[in-house]
Amino acid sequence: MHRRGRPKGPRWIKEFPKAMLFKPRGLPLNTLERVEITIEELEAMRLVDFLGLGQEEAAKMMGVSRKTLWMDLKEGRRKVIEGLIEGKAIELKGSHPYTIRCTCEGCGSTWFYLFKRMPRRLRCPSCKIELELSKVESRNTFDEESG
Ligand SMILES: [Zn+2]
Repeated sequence: MHRRGRPKGPRWIKEFPKAMLFKPRGLPLNTLERVEITIEELEAMRLVDFLGLGQEEAAKMMGVSRKTLWMDLKEGRRKVIEGLIEGKAIELKGSHPYTIRCTCEGCGSTWFYLFKRMPRRLRCPSCKIELELSKVESRNTFDEESG
């Protein structure tokens, strides 16, 4: 059921999840099957299902096509349901090797950029001014959370 190995384009994420793992009560984690929801699937669900944004607007915020947004949304919803119905642990995972946190000097908003290859230039998703890449902080996506 898992989509594997399909390269994913970079995404903008406004908020990171506050917890990375959810599990049914009373069962040890190592006996449970897991569903892995990617950060961008969660962001798509956060924007559309939680905040009530239209798909067009959500796609623009994340810097992806409507089709890509829709695929993330559909896949994320399916996995949440799978976890709840089948009593699996739900784990949030990064699907990009790198994340940078950008605070825009123009409008002050903070974003996370998820990517495989560092772009030459980046524009703030809110106000579209160019971000100074020398000033953004870079790290591997989920090293500190895993394990
Ligand atoms: Zn800005």
